[in-house]
Formats: sequence, C-alpha cells, structure tokens
Amino acid sequence: MTASIPDISAPSQLEPDDWQAFREQAHRALDAALDHIQQRPEQPVWQEIPDRIKKLNDTPPAAGALLEDIVQEVRDDILPYTLGNTHPRFWGWVHGSGTASGVIAQMMTAVINANMAGRDHAPIYVEAQVIRWMQTLFSLPAGASGIMCTGTSSATLLGLAVARQRAVGSDVRRHGNSANPGLVAYCSQQAHVSVVKAMELLGLGSDALRSVPVNVDYSMDCTAFEEMLCGDLQQGLKPFAVISTVGGVNTGAIDDLVNVNRVCRETGTWHHVDGAFGALAILSDHLKPRLEGIADADSIAFDFHKWMHVSYAAGCLLVRDGAIHRQTFETSAAYLQNETRGLAGGGPWPSEYGIDLSRGFAALSVWFQLKEMGTEKLGTAIYRNCLQAKWFGACVTQSTDLELLAPVALNIVCYRYCHAALSASEHNDLNREIVVELQCRGIAAPSTTSLNGVAAIRVCIANHRTRKADLEELLAATKQIAKELLSTHYSQRLT
Ligand SMILES: *Cc1c(COP(=O)(O)O)cnc(C)c1O
Repeated sequence: MTASIPDISAPSQLEPDDWQAFREQAHRALDAALDHIQQRPEQPVWQEIPDRIKKLNDTPPAAGALLEDIVQEVRDDILPYTLGNTHPRFWGWVHGSGTASGVIAQMMTAVINANMAGRDHAPIYVEAQVIRWMQTLFSLPAGASGIMCTGTSSATLLGLAVARQRAVGSDVRRHGNSANPGLVAYCSQQAHVSVVKAMELLGLGSDALRSVPVNVDYSMDCTAFEEMLCGDLQQGLKPFAVISTVGGVNTGAIDDLVNVNRVCRETGTWHHVDGAFGALAILSDHLKPRLEGIADADSIAFDFHKWMHVSYAAGCLLVRDGAIHRQTFETSAAYLQNETRGLAGGGPWPSEYGIDLSRGFAALSVWFQLKEMGTEKLGTAIYRNCLQAKWFGACVTQSTDLELLAPVALNIVCYRYCHAALSASEHNDLNREIVVELQCRGIAAPSTTSLNGVAAIRVCIANHRTRKADLEELLAATKQIAKELLSTHYSQRLT
C-alpha cells in the first residue's frame, strides 16, 4: 500500500476528529487509572510476567488503533505486571510509591508539554519556585542555584562536574582532564554506584575515587577520610571532592556531615552530599537534626521521586555557589541568544545549569505535590516510615529466629532468618531464597543486600501506604517461608 499524499489544508491528523467521543474515552481511562491505584493493595505486590508480554514484535504498528483498545491493552498487559512500588508491601531498593494526585499532575504536565530548556514561560518559574523552596529548606544562602534532573545519578554527575570546575577552572572545559592530572575524590565504601559512574563519565576513572572505610554503623570513618586526603595531598595529588551520603542505600546510614565540612574547609575540598532519599528527611522536624551540616555542603543531590513520592523521574541538584555552577555548563550558541523581552527573555535559562537542552516539566509534579500535601504532611509520612522501621527492627531483635544485621539508622531494616544447623553460606542461600519466595508469592517485596559477606533481607520503607499490619505480615511470612524452605532443603539435618 502506498501512503496517500497529505492534504496540506486539512486539520491535524494527530488530533481527535470527534472531541466528544475522545472526551468520553479519556474519562474512562482516568477512571481506570484511579481504579488501579485504589485497588492496588488487594493485588499481589508482584507477579511473574507472562511470555506473551515479554515477546517483542519486530515491526512498529503501521496503522493506528482505537484509543479504547490501547487503554484496554494497558489494563490487561501492563497494569497487573508492574514493579509493585505503588503497593503498601513494597520495600525493595529505594522506590517512591506515587500518589493519586500524581495522576492529575502528570496529566497537566502532558497538556502543557513544556520544554524546560529555557525561554520565558510560566513553567520556568514553576521550576524556579521548586528550587527556591528547596534552597530554603536546606538553608542555602542567596546566590545558590539548582536544577531538576532525572535523578540523583545525574545530579551527582552534574555536582561533581561543578566541583571539578571549581578545582581547576575553565581549562577543563577546553582541554579536558589531561591538563589537570592527579584529581581524586572520596566517598565511603557504602556510597552508591552512581558516584563511581560519575567519576567514569567525567573521564577521571573509578581509580581516582578513593573508598573510605566505614564505622560499625556503616557511616564514613571520618578519621580515615582525613588521613587518606592528607596522604594524597602529600603525594602531590589534587583532592577535589568528597561525596558524603545521607541515607546510605544498604542500611540508611548518615555520614557525619559536620566533620566532613570541617575537613573540606581546611583543605579546600568540595563537599557533595548524596541525599538521594535521605536528604528529604529535612521535611520532618524530628529527623532534621540528624542532617546537621547539610546547609554548609557545596552541593546536594536528591530525589523527589523517592521519599516525596513524586511520579518518576524527578531529581534535583542544589549548588551553594550558583556562579560556579553556571560556569560549568553555560554555552553560547547563536540560536540560543537571550533577549530582554519576548519569548527569548527570562534568562539565565536552565540549560546553562546542566546537560540537557530539551527537558521535561517534572517540576510541575513536585510543585503540585508540595502545594497539595504541604511540607508538614510529607515530613510526617517520612517520619512515620522511620518509626515503622524502628518498630520492625525491635520485632526482629525480639525474635529468637531472626537477627538484625545493622542498626536502624533511618527507614531501612536489614535482617535475616537464622538456624543453628546452617553454615554461613547456607544462611545466605536461605535468606536470598526467602526474598525470592516473598516476591514470587506476591506477599511482599523486600530486596536483598550483602553486609560484610552476610546476605540480608533488606526492608526499605519509603512507602506512605505501609501500615504496621503490612510489616506484621512480612514478619509472619518470613518465618513461615523459612520453615518451608528448611523442611524442603535441610529436613535431614533438622530432625
Ligand atoms: C537511589 C539512589 C541513588 C541514585 O538515584 P537515582 O534517582 O536512582 O538516579 C543514589 N544514591 C542513593 C543513596 C540512592 O538511594
């Protein structure tokens, strides 16, 4: 079939021909979306994906389908097989759980379809507002800057680029790293892999990232950090940044920011905070004191899509010195000239503070969430998760067959099932299998991690839907599944 010649005076072919019919279908789709959220707790947290869904088609559809059929396909093939992070018993990795009103915010975002590179339009001021609110929350001084990005991985990459810019100046933009050998950075052994990736992407290499040992509570050993840094200075290396963590991904540990700040001040090192989820503990008056020193950091990376439950993807970088931030990314392209009036006004544009030119309007979802919930309610939800973790940790400690593997610093509990007859590696196998079973039976979704070689069931409660009863269910299911697995795998030894 040959494509027909388009009629250049007809209305857009990509718009509905019958708005009334479209409207009715759109309302039905919205109802389906809200039904899904409302009924999610009754469904399994996760279920195996059927092969028909995994099977990929080679050819994209040449002819379009009816909207209602596509919505139906989403209902049949996608909604039942999602990750589970909108379910009250999802505690794997670190995922936000979304909110019902997030649906509305995302819908409005689609309607506006803003390109957040720059130009003078209201959405730019919405992002600026979000950034300003965050600067206030973290008590950053006037002159600070910020940019929204897809997540903390990109925020950390941007933050370290700014740190390098401050250390070596604009040289690095022209000549790359070759004119500046010996740049090194520091983070704890518990730091997130995104820090390693950032070093790789900056061309500095992961060997230039020094891994600092941790204390028993998995926070950075600041004495070791200071010694490593001073040793490197004596060797003629150029320490340019330290990445501290507020809310480590394994155990929720918080590094001693005040101490890191002191070392940074004394040595002229940039302090970048990876606060992916933990930084937003600042929203809770109960937790805020734990983040002491964060206001003096040079840059802070964190996510709205984790503990603030904004729809993906919404991360943020804040930089104390906005001028150096801009120097790192500003460009001068002829077609991107600012004007004082008209659409090309309103500079400096966000594109001068990051990598992306075209960028989505994730800021609307953040703005919406903050307007609708307010900082108090959001902070309370965060604190509630920490209390739940504390309660769960205490239950683990009181159970003779369970062992708590790390102090509960924030919202993460690492524990395992124990049996005297099992070896170390059998314990590891058993506990990993318990997690797989919990997931495959659709009961709950913790994840696993390894602490000093010991496999842990890791429960990260960044979920506003979780109630105590959900955690009670996890406790009971852990023990039940453990007993079943023990009797299948090790029945001889247990008798
Ligand atoms: C999730 C996480 C990251 C990465 O953030 P993304 O938004 O997933 O890119 C970095 N650090 C910590 C501590 C995290 O929990």
